Amino acid sequence: MEEPSQQIPPWSPPAGYVAVPSQVEGVVIYAPAADEETEETQTFRCRYCGGTIAYEPGQQGLACPFCGRKQEIEAEQVGRAAEKYEFTLETMAHALHGWGSERRELVCEACGSVVTVAPMALTSTCAFCGSNRVLARSVVTSDLLRPTALIPFSIDAAQLETRVQAWLGQGWMHPSGLHRSGILRDLVGVYLPYWTFDTDVRADWQAEVGRVHTERYRVGGEWHTRTVIRWRWQSGRVRFQVADLLVAGTHRVSQAILRKVGPFDLEGLATYDPGYLAGWQAKVYDIALHDAWEAAKEQIRENAREACHEDTGSAHVRSLQMAVDFAHERWRHILLPVYLASYRYEGRPFHVMVNGQNGQVAGQKPVDWLRVWLVIAAMLLPGACLGMIGLLTLAVGGIGIIGLALGFILLIAGLVGGFLVLKKARESEEI
Ligand SMILES: [Zn+2]
Ligand SMILES: [Zn+2]
Repeated sequence: MEEPSQQIPPWSPPAGYVAVPSQVEGVVIYAPAADEETEETQTFRCRYCGGTIAYEPGQQGLACPFCGRKQEIEAEQVGRAAEKYEFTLETMAHALHGWGSERRELVCEACGSVVTVAPMALTSTCAFCGSNRVLARSVVTSDLLRPTALIPFSIDAAQLETRVQAWLGQGWMHPSGLHRSGILRDLVGVYLPYWTFDTDVRADWQAEVGRVHTERYRVGGEWHTRTVIRWRWQSGRVRFQVADLLVAGTHRVSQAILRKVGPFDLEGLATYDPGYLAGWQAKVYDIALHDAWEAAKEQIRENAREACHEDTGSAHVRSLQMAVDFAHERWRHILLPVYLASYRYEGRPFHVMVNGQNGQVAGQKPVDWLRVWLVIAAMLLPGACLGMIGLLTLAVGGIGIIGLALGFILLIAGLVGGFLVLKKARESEEI
């Protein structure tokens, strides 16, 4: 059997000492580490009682839930003037990374969403899919770009409740009593990641442009006129500026819902301060800067194509070719506030989102299909009845035919109305 070795543990330099270049071979010199520009991360504890404090919507500060004392955030409201970066390697390296405060990452095993929360926060449900298979990750990905600005939450819990309940009570096609279903228990405030882009755009175009002409021609000694389109190759140049084009930094939220709770007023942007995130979830971006910029360029190209079309000055354009150039590209990583909830109704999940800046509500609502079908039947009934009466009295002559025709028109109107109701009902469940 081997004896456990009694070796002395290898010597290690005292804390704060690091190896520095040595003149003598084989000799290692340790010196106190130079003061690196390490940033102090902030912790959010109450100065007076040590309790965990959180950002209070609309208060521009943090409040302690235990002793009620408040603490201000010294961030500026900068609006659209919030700092922007160029697309160079240098600026990428200098852009701040991480969150500037201690945060814990939560990963949802069901949908893959990653959010960060304050170290002490207890979260058991995923705000994005409602699953409770949420794992805490000890290592926080600190190579993520730090947001430069955010819009703080201004809608508080009380306003939220009023707005969501009013929204749930709206519309006749949903089960009654929906606004009493206790949905608010699951509402979570989450900062969503966004990218904004600015750029100058130049588009050179070339196309066959058709102009409408009136021609006179003669047939058998008589003059007639007709219109013809004469095609000619033309070219031109369009310039425009793009400012604050928003691209979502996450796939996890339905873009349709995002559009419905928007737009956000970017004048409300404040410089990033970790204090705003205290007590709130922040979604980690899953669409990286590069991919977001590709998506933005795609959208800008579409706009450029329209601008070129307009520049031709004609409604008849064919074989349009375009070369688009981008200059002075700038980007920003920002956070926008939303409340998310998934609730269940008769075993099915439904998603709701509330704009944390202006309180706009959107989402899925269950449909009372019996009610919808009854309404559609009521819409079809007059046409069907009148048509039937017309058919029965057809023998009488005139009246019967009028009845049949009227019934037919009413039936068509009923069908169109019924189709629209059905479409609306489907949409409110899907989104
Ligand atoms: Zn306190
Ligand atoms: Zn999830």
